[in-house]
Amino acid sequence: MQATLVIFSNRLQSDATAQFQLWRQTNWNTGEFLTCAMRHGVRTCMLHSARCRYFENSGLISARSLTSSQKVCSTSRPDLLAWAQAQGAYIEGCVCL
Ligand SMILES: [Zn+2]
Repeated sequence: MQATLVIFSNRLQSDATAQFQLWRQTNWNTGEFLTCAMRHGVRTCMLHSARCRYFENSGLISARSLTSSQKVCSTSRPDLLAWAQAQGAYIEGCVCL
């Protein structure tokens, strides 16, 4: 595997949200990430750009932790898609792509 997948989750890091936001800033131009959740009983991963405006929403950030559901980050889209497929997840793309 060439590019590294980085996973941020409240279950993995005590400051996962801060680390995730720092990763987005650091990988602003080339980074993409997956948010994974169960939706109607189907494990679903949504692919976002690091620049996704949804994650700039301060109301959202203060309302709840961004990393209560894990964020899988990489600069390689093929690696992210391969990870999601290995989880048996359904993949959707955000409008930010
Ligand atoms: Zn997005």
